[in-house]
Amino acid sequence: MRQHLIDPEICIRCNTCEETCPVDAISHDSRNYVVDAAKCKLCYNCISPCPTGAIDSWRNMPADKAYPLAEQLLWDTLPGQIALDAPAEVGAGDTAPELPDDVERIAAASTAGQGGTAPPPWSAAHPYANLYGIHNPAVATVSGNFKLTAEDASSDIRHIVLDFGNASFPVLEGQTIGILAPGLDAHGKPHHVRLYSVASPRDGERPRYNNLSLTVKRVTEDHEGKAAQGIASNYLCDLKKGDKVNVVGPYGTSFLMPNHPGSNLLMICTGTGSAPMRAMTERRRRKFAAGENAGKLMLFFGARSPGELPYFGPLTKLPKEFIDINFGFSRVPGEPKRYVQDLLRERGGDVARLLRDDNTYVYLCGLKGMEKGVEDAFTEACRANGLDWSALRPQLLQQGRYHVETY
Ligand code: NAP
Repeated sequence: MRQHLIDPEICIRCNTCEETCPVDAISHDSRNYVVDAAKCKLCYNCISPCPTGAIDSWRNMPADKAYPLAEQLLWDTLPGQIALDAPAEVGAGDTAPELPDDVERIAAASTAGQGGTAPPPWSAAHPYANLYGIHNPAVATVSGNFKLTAEDASSDIRHIVLDFGNASFPVLEGQTIGILAPGLDAHGKPHHVRLYSVASPRDGERPRYNNLSLTVKRVTEDHEGKAAQGIASNYLCDLKKGDKVNVVGPYGTSFLMPNHPGSNLLMICTGTGSAPMRAMTERRRRKFAAGENAGKLMLFFGARSPGELPYFGPLTKLPKEFIDINFGFSRVPGEPKRYVQDLLRERGGDVARLLRDDNTYVYLCGLKGMEKGVEDAFTEACRANGLDWSALRPQLLQQGRYHVETY
């Protein structure tokens, strides 16, 4: 048999493969992502979305001797190809034979449902990806660490600027980078890479400087609300100007912005999911300031309160003719909870007008839980305005016009 595996040395544990797999063959523990040979149908849906290529690992095995999950969970490196008595049908090696072409892979993934990866917009700039790995990280210097949230806010969100000096680290809006926090985990192993979206435009946080910014929330509790210190987020939030940081990536070849004149951006985000929206908005703001009017921008931004909203001040100062901003706050005393999906419903007519335009590109980033609410709001807004979201959605995905990044 041809056994599908994941290379633990390269994997950055971003969960994309587990989310994409249509038969739940991929799972993980605190160390490794693994593939259940009994469930994997070799559909390849997980291959193209993987940012590092760790997923593209294969071994020819006797059918009754496939590596079990318990063994894969203990690996630090992939085992070599074992000698087989009879040659397997497909040649031995690390990577799967190429599918007829990559477009088919993307098309298969796009139509797979929620977990699919859309191709990039046709006019997106070509991204660089995987320039630096965990064995050869780029070293960046912290050139700024600014608190974005109010002093009395319940969360500490920071705008961190990293300078790459003479190292080549080109990024586009919508891409992510990986941070290697120093030190060892409870098993005595280096910490896993943690991914953050780039919050600055391609020409730098400061134009024409070789730097970029991140939006980082200090994690002090887990999903159940129990006290837990996030390794990378606390490391990043505590950095001082001049500190050195090991960075891998960049990653991401799909969640990218269009570049053609007249292309509209419909952006929906919660909390620090605002990072890529800030990058795209700032890219367009610089063009707008230079007299180029590239298309419409509409932003739906959900946060607990104004004090917890990253970039609140600067956003409110942007001219109305440049961007249509809609804030939704969920924890303002005495006011009802408002989520981004509520705002989308309220602005249903304008949202549908944008969706009807072939030049509109939709971006969704933030909490996983918002996905369903936003999809439902799109369904309603479309229905009320003579559109069919269930027909439009796959079309948008196929055309690289619907991009979702939620955790
Ligand atoms: P948060 O402050 O906990 O929440 C932001 C807002 O979203 C709050 O108003 C919250 O309301 C609301 N919300 C909660 N559940 C919702 C739902 N089902 N539908 C719509 N809105 C909902 O957010 P956060 O802690 O910043 O989390 C942001 C997420 O973005 C994280 O999952 C992070 O991993 C991800 N992200 C971060 C980056 C980055 O570069 N830092 C990049 C991409 C994605 P309540 O008051 O009800 O909680």
